[in-house]
Amino acid sequence: MPNQDNPFLEIAAPWVAGLSPYVPGKPMAELERELGITDAVKLASNENPLGPGPKARAAIAEACGDLGRYPDGGGFALRMALAAHHDVSPSAVTLGNGSNDVLDLIARAFLQPGTESVFSEHAFAVYAISTQAVGARARIAPARDYGHDLEAMAALVNERTRVVWIANPNNPSGTWLDAATLKTFIEALPRTCLVVIDEAYTDYVSEPDFPDATLWLEAHPNLIVTRTFAKVHGLAALRVGYGLSHPKVADLLNRVRQPFNVNALAQAAAVAALDDREHVRASVELNRAGMRQYTEAFARLGLDFIPSVGNFITVDVGRPAGPVNDALLRLGVIVRPVANYGLPNHLRVSIGLEAENARCIAALEQVLDR
Ligand SMILES: *Cc1c(COP(=O)(O)O)cnc(C)c1O
Repeated sequence: MPNQDNPFLEIAAPWVAGLSPYVPGKPMAELERELGITDAVKLASNENPLGPGPKARAAIAEACGDLGRYPDGGGFALRMALAAHHDVSPSAVTLGNGSNDVLDLIARAFLQPGTESVFSEHAFAVYAISTQAVGARARIAPARDYGHDLEAMAALVNERTRVVWIANPNNPSGTWLDAATLKTFIEALPRTCLVVIDEAYTDYVSEPDFPDATLWLEAHPNLIVTRTFAKVHGLAALRVGYGLSHPKVADLLNRVRQPFNVNALAQAAAVAALDDREHVRASVELNRAGMRQYTEAFARLGLDFIPSVGNFITVDVGRPAGPVNDALLRLGVIVRPVANYGLPNHLRVSIGLEAENARCIAALEQVLDR
């Protein structure tokens, strides 16, 4: 919450003074300190419970040998690997310190006071923060069945709109948009408005009509697709993500990018992770089994949930979720309250290892007295 007693508020940019900072998942070590336990389970930040694969681990170990030097500020090897992976020009790639960084670069390059960005209710919190941090106005469309209502979003686009943010699948709802629906929306947007398709969870999705928006880059110069190494690749701690766009858009993003925004360990790990198909396969398979574990448990407990194609599931606990979350914390289970996303009775649970999921389910059962 913004601290209104802060004397520096007067000299801060007015839009910064009104910002509420992003609230991350509670760190495990913090809860363990508070409770005096050592076996907390964290299912709060949609991380890969397997962590990085063996190829990325080896690359990190090797890169540790040369930490005295600055990283490659242009990220040559990683940009070449991404260009080959997606069959785009290296000049289409913008590297970020996590894909959050890329979202922020987009806001800094294209939004300012007097301009607007459009996103959905229950959308990723960073869209609102990045928009407000540069003094632009956020226009928020009501959701439909917890997901993006593209008609409602299109109705908010006007001559001041510079960016439309869409996560596909969405976090925290886990809902998704099919290829035809999303493509029609993008085609109808004015060319003066950028559309960001945030594909942080794309690897988890197996629906046949789920789109890969990177395939539309050629036809749509106003499209930016963002991806991350923090989710299926298990590199959340290293902070590395990227945007793919028209090279002229990437040129502007790279003008506001800090020179060494992606560190050397992250660059090396990302190159190695990118083509570790075996680790991606194992991670997706584990996620599928965990998703089944939760949906079966929620059905048994009589709890409604939002059907999700991501590596998390958002469940309706049928009462204000804050106290339920507190009780789960006392049992050493960290999940994510989503009241700040307009979902006061829901908790978002990241899919973990089977035993972690079982702990979470048992704790929920106990707390909800089912
Ligand atoms: C987790 C997540 C990201 C990834 O953020 P990083 O900065 O790459 O860790 C991006 N978008 C959404 C919707 C997410 O949930």
